Amino acid sequence: MELILDPGHGGPDPGAVYAGGTVKEEYLNLVICNRVKSLIENYHRVLLTRYWGKKEETSLADRVKMANGINGYMKADFFLSVHHNSFSDSNVKGFEVFYTAGNKNAAGFAARMYYNINKISQTADYKYNMREIKGSAGGLYVLNDFYITVPAVLIELGFGTNAEELAWLTCATGQITLSYAIARTVLEHFWEMQKGTF
Ligand SMILES: [Zn+2]
Repeated sequence: MELILDPGHGGPDPGAVYAGGTVKEEYLNLVICNRVKSLIENYHRVLLTRYWGKKEETSLADRVKMANGINGYMKADFFLSVHHNSFSDSNVKGFEVFYTAGNKNAAGFAARMYYNINKISQTADYKYNMREIKGSAGGLYVLNDFYITVPAVLIELGFGTNAEELAWLTCATGQITLSYAIARTVLEHFWEMQKGTF
């Protein structure tokens, strides 16, 4: 199976900026994606849409083309985009997952992701505020099935604008715990896809 793993933003676009500019979302997204890739690449092909040190912008269209199998790439089996959230109210925190609305495969992955994150959150040092699982009907480019032709999910691992959550998202324990839950979700879901459940 082949996964396109997409660390959101990068290049000239830092994404959300936290802690007075000292922490950038593009960096947190890449840390998680690199860890997840190393956990699953012995079992499945994993391609990152961007890499450490890349200065040029990686357009949303190019990310989607990698999944669709254009520009010399094979068509992937799944697309997963990793982001961190922000909000003007620093009290807001929690985990969110979005999937391509109407796509059963993507909805199944999103539900499994939510379950696994909630599960680790019950036992980890940090207890998540579990927010919604949402079908995205076109508002998010990488989940819009007008553009992307493979099942796609986007996760928001938490709000860097909340001090407590930022501490969890920037510590090794938090990042490793989250990476394991994400990798586990991919492995379990790909097993279901190989069995023909989706
Ligand atoms: Zn983002």
